[in-house]
Amino acid sequence: MPAIRTQLETGEVHHHGLTYAVYVERVLARIAARQGYDLPRPAAVETSLIGAVQAFVVKGQVLAQCPDCGIEYQLVFTGEPLFMCSVCWNRVLGGLYRRVVLPEEFGKVEAAMIEVRDTNRLNWIPPGSKLVGIMRGEPEQAVAEIVVEMGVRVREEGQ
Ligand SMILES: [Zn+2]
Repeated sequence: MPAIRTQLETGEVHHHGLTYAVYVERVLARIAARQGYDLPRPAAVETSLIGAVQAFVVKGQVLAQCPDCGIEYQLVFTGEPLFMCSVCWNRVLGGLYRRVVLPEEFGKVEAAMIEVRDTNRLNWIPPGSKLVGIMRGEPEQAVAEIVVEMGVRVREEGQ
């Protein structure tokens, strides 16, 4: 019997508890250095107050995508939801980190999804996400739709 999934795959889950700051240090900053770019660390610069991106779920992975180049997407670190594109380095925002928005309903989505064992069905593109590039064309789904599709009941708060 397969193990029951208890949570979606976030940056922290995928990287076994790594924080976003360490991920930046070990992964993004090294990619940047190979391109001759000295990537500012998230603690050292402001986060852009504009240009936040919406998190979405594809095959159980919680992702954010670069809205500018449409190429890069990364697992979201829900403990520190920031996004830095490793293709365009958020040039449009002057190199500042973007905020990643995890909607209030995200908890409901996760609660519904963890009852589904088939990873291929673990998809949630919130309406209005305006995905571009390779993610364009993924169907948008409201939380109510995903709950109906998955055939599971989501308990309301306090039940
Ligand atoms: Zn980009």
